[in-house]
Amino acid sequence: MMTAQQYEESLRKLNFVIYMFGERVANPVDNHIIRPSMNAVAKTYELAHQPEHEDLMTAVSHLSGKRINRFTHIHQSVSDLVKKTKMGRLLGAHTGCCFQRCVGMDALNALSIVTHDIDAKRGTKYNERFLKYLAYVQENDLTCDGAMTDPKGDRSLPPHKQQDPDMYMRVVKEDQEGIVVRGAKAHQTGAVNSHEVIVMPTIAMRQEDSDYAISFALPSDAEGITYIMGRQSCDTRKLEQNLLDTGNPAFGGHEALVIFDDVFVPWDRVFMCREHEFAGPLVEKFASYHRQSYACKSGVGDVLIGAAQTVAEYNGAQKASHIRDKIIEMNHLNETLFCGSLSCAAEGHKEPSGTYCVNTLLANVSKQNVTRFPYEIARLAQDVAGGLMVTLPSAADFQSPQTGQLLEKYYRGNSDVPTESRRRILRLIENLTLGTAAVGYLTESMHGAGSPQAQRIMIARQVNMKLKQRLAKKLCGIED
Ligand code: SF4
Ligand code: FE
Repeated sequence: MMTAQQYEESLRKLNFVIYMFGERVANPVDNHIIRPSMNAVAKTYELAHQPEHEDLMTAVSHLSGKRINRFTHIHQSVSDLVKKTKMGRLLGAHTGCCFQRCVGMDALNALSIVTHDIDAKRGTKYNERFLKYLAYVQENDLTCDGAMTDPKGDRSLPPHKQQDPDMYMRVVKEDQEGIVVRGAKAHQTGAVNSHEVIVMPTIAMRQEDSDYAISFALPSDAEGITYIMGRQSCDTRKLEQNLLDTGNPAFGGHEALVIFDDVFVPWDRVFMCREHEFAGPLVEKFASYHRQSYACKSGVGDVLIGAAQTVAEYNGAQKASHIRDKIIEMNHLNETLFCGSLSCAAEGHKEPSGTYCVNTLLANVSKQNVTRFPYEIARLAQDVAGGLMVTLPSAADFQSPQTGQLLEKYYRGNSDVPTESRRRILRLIENLTLGTAAVGYLTESMHGAGSPQAQRIMIARQVNMKLKQRLAKKLCGIED
């Protein structure tokens, strides 16, 4: 297993093509805006070496029998699924942001199931190929970006009817050596902190869309791949001298648009090619796993609740009954999120490939809660924090000889607490609910792993309505 330091060094060796603010980023590892997101992934390496976290952060490979980082593991039991949930919460609590590495783990697990299923029906050899690739990922302890979301163009049209045929990732050429792919993947959190990119289709495909039913893996710096970083509110605060105003100076998550411009993929890295009927199942498996993964938001919630309690104490308001009740409500919502992620893991089952998969219905119910509760927790945190959170002058003003003393004087709360501590905790709450981390805590809770409607469709599909009706009718004496 790599250490955090080795992980950082391994990224330096990659030759990424990254653009941000209109310019090429030559050295993403030391870039002030990107670095916090790299630090968050580095935590997944660091904690794996700490004896107290070994049980959650590592596992024994079913391929090699060696101890590996859990982020490269294929779940071999219900207990593995439960540990995955707990690992997500642990890391969310340590970073206060999206630590990005779960998507790759979820992609690997989904592919371990679906490549097996394609082979069983089509007589192909994808699973064998996939397992070789998996062994390589485990052996080198790699971070993989699981890339699913295509730009999608006109949402009312299927891939092959789009005016621009590249709105979904597709095969443009095929020969004995491999395939050539073109398209893009949007909103890829952590893409530039990953060694590998694993591409999957984003929706179920019909026969006419076969060219779009592809899955493959590439080194993230393969020729022809370009990354364009997204903007986040308050992102340029990370460029300031004094980082206090960022709220969470060390950690963050950062999204990129990943463009594949006629990129060659050798056959040994192709895991699906035109088996259109398996695009839907791959999306479903990945989505269910990733919906379980959102236990990370309970970990981030831990940070936000801790911040809300702290600011209440700094404001001298912690004993007010309504403040106490709001903190209880935040905890109730946060633990409800954790319950959902745990329950879909505990109700997991073994797939024909041997991989354990979460309960799909419960994973979707859990993720649906994730699209709501963090917003309510954030609302309560802002309520408890007070308006100063958004009117607080900058760190530079606090340092200025003209204004510093005045601000120190008037922005003091509880007289035992330095004003700087109050500023720090307010900035952290701002970061989580309005700033760069709100991307991960709120918007990603809403749209990551599928927007709310995607879960409602799955809930409708998975629920056994006939059974419920039979139960009701039986009790009141209706005989059909
Ligand atoms: Fe992992 Fe959560 Fe980030 Fe998804 S949003 S990659 S589950 S930390
Ligand atoms: Fe996500």
